[in-house]
Amino acid sequence: MSTPAINNRKKIAIIGGGPTALFLFKEFAKRGKKDYTIDIFEAGQQLGSGMPYTKAGANAEHISNVSANEIPELISPLNEYIDSLPAKYLEEAGIDKDLFHEYKVIPRLILGQYFNDQFKQLLEKAKKEQTDIYIHPCTRVEDIIDKPGSNKIMVETASHESREFDIVIICTGHSWPCSKEGKIKGYYDSPYPPQKLLKQFNHLIALKGSSLTAIDAIVTLSKIHGRFSKDNTGQLAWLPNEDTPEFKIVMHSLQALLPAIRIHLDDPQLKKDILLSEKDIFKHIVENDGFLSLDYLFEKNFKEPMKSGDPEFYQEIRNKKLEDFVNGIMQIREQADPFQLFKAEYREANRSIRRQKPVYWKELLAAFNFLINYPAKHLSAEDMIRFQKVLMPLISIIIAFVPQESCEQLIALYDAGRLEIVSVDEDSKVEACEEGGIIYHYKDESGNEYHQRYLTYIDCTGQPPLSLEDFPFRSLRKGNILSQARIKFRSGEEGKKEKGKGNKKVEQDGENWFLHVPGIAITDSFSPIDNEGHINPRIYMLASPFISGFNPDFSGLDFCATAAKIVTEDIIS
Ligand SMILES: Cc1cc2nc3c(=O)[nH]c(=O)nc-3n(C[C@H](O)[C@H](O)[C@H](O)COP(=O)(O)OP(=O)(O)OC[C@H]3O[C@@H](n4cnc5c(N)ncnc54)[C@H](O)[C@@H]3O)c2cc1C
Repeated sequence: MSTPAINNRKKIAIIGGGPTALFLFKEFAKRGKKDYTIDIFEAGQQLGSGMPYTKAGANAEHISNVSANEIPELISPLNEYIDSLPAKYLEEAGIDKDLFHEYKVIPRLILGQYFNDQFKQLLEKAKKEQTDIYIHPCTRVEDIIDKPGSNKIMVETASHESREFDIVIICTGHSWPCSKEGKIKGYYDSPYPPQKLLKQFNHLIALKGSSLTAIDAIVTLSKIHGRFSKDNTGQLAWLPNEDTPEFKIVMHSLQALLPAIRIHLDDPQLKKDILLSEKDIFKHIVENDGFLSLDYLFEKNFKEPMKSGDPEFYQEIRNKKLEDFVNGIMQIREQADPFQLFKAEYREANRSIRRQKPVYWKELLAAFNFLINYPAKHLSAEDMIRFQKVLMPLISIIIAFVPQESCEQLIALYDAGRLEIVSVDEDSKVEACEEGGIIYHYKDESGNEYHQRYLTYIDCTGQPPLSLEDFPFRSLRKGNILSQARIKFRSGEEGKKEKGKGNKKVEQDGENWFLHVPGIAITDSFSPIDNEGHINPRIYMLASPFISGFNPDFSGLDFCATAAKIVTEDIIS
């Protein structure tokens, strides 16, 4: 590791070399200034790809839920990269080169290779332009030590090498807490890396969760215990292996809800045309006593564009409040048989893709989610509670956008009688058993109690929000550098009332009342804020699990790209 000492230039370290680092690299390269040096530290071998798009998060059977047209701009488009790959290799990956177009989704591992290719192209460009960029693959950063006295920050690697920088951008991405995996036989804290599931299980397997993470586990397990085959009508069937007749997967989720399916998305245009601008939002916040109003966003960014986008749907919701709208949709989902609804939505999604016509309200909801992610920290605590309790459950179901291929596999497995979903209550518990496996304690919708024993259990609830205590860099964790994210109540009375209801996340601070939200407090440009409200100018925090309170959308690629742009502009300005 030898970065030459270059005086008078800002030395920037990027910790973690996944997609967020790739988009940062692109933004710095675009600006072409030479008054900084960049070091990128990546624990793994491959730069640009990140967790979901390498073996750490995918096998060949895992498909991305974004198509080429939704991937934020890099150096060259995905189509071009696909075109450059040998046809035989693509065929093995299930991609027909001649039929590939920008609306197709592709395996995550291929997307990861594309990101790696884009990273290499950027590196070439940087070398030609003599930008000082130093890549450190296979280099895990162990600690980050802030030195406010000298306005510097130290990065310490696992091999105890230390390096001094002016700015550190933390992009360490996904992190899966390890609780019982490895200690209790048959207990998996997450399905990642999915290679660990490539085993025979001749019994019932319990999954907690029924959304994208569960689907990742299901498609891997179904491949090991049987094979998929299309009949002459094109219908997919799952044919079981003979030696695991007892293999079956049982998903457990609140209200037994399945996620919605990928539709055609005109997304990029939609965002540009109908979303409120940053300026509009800022103006609204100023005029609204410093708070962003959830109702204002719902009116301006959902109902208003609906008037022309889908007048019929607009008539149905024009007089509805946010809660009424969400309850209406959720009730339909809760009352329907989950797999019948899944099949119906699959047919609707296919129509949408065939005709290249979006399902407008779903696309608007995705755009709404994108819009609210950045200014969410300006909601009042009253609105944040509504957002978390009312809107988030709907958003997480609708914008999961299960890829068609995964959807067909789930339906085939269900039709073969090897996949089931059960409804559990909010107080349901998973009890790990010393001798292996678990007991799932839950009540169904009628209040009947169950204590179901499973030999294998996989937690598929997805990336959990992480807190200050989980933060990996001990020197930043200690001391007053980072602080708990919290959001102010507009009305002290409401804060007091919420506390009275037993909400342990509510606290009083002087005359004001606050709601704790997951992760650490950051500014609009992702700098951490300490307990006294001081902004740290040397650190930028883009590791999504640690900022999910203030940025509740869990970091799709559009998050990586937008956040990278904001941070680069902040540093360069
Ligand atoms: C299973 C899964 C599937 C997903 N699929 C999609 C999808 O299809 N479409 C979409 O838009 N979004 C998807 N996402 C969202 C995804 O989070 C983002 O697309 C993206 O991966 C975030 O990039 P990142 O660089 O912030 O984090 P990551 O991808 O997690 O990358 C972080 C990088 O930092 C490195 N690192 C971590 N700690 C250290 C350290 N201490 N020192 C050095 N290096 C370190 C890691 O090795 C890794 O390479 C998915 C998420 C998951 C979990």
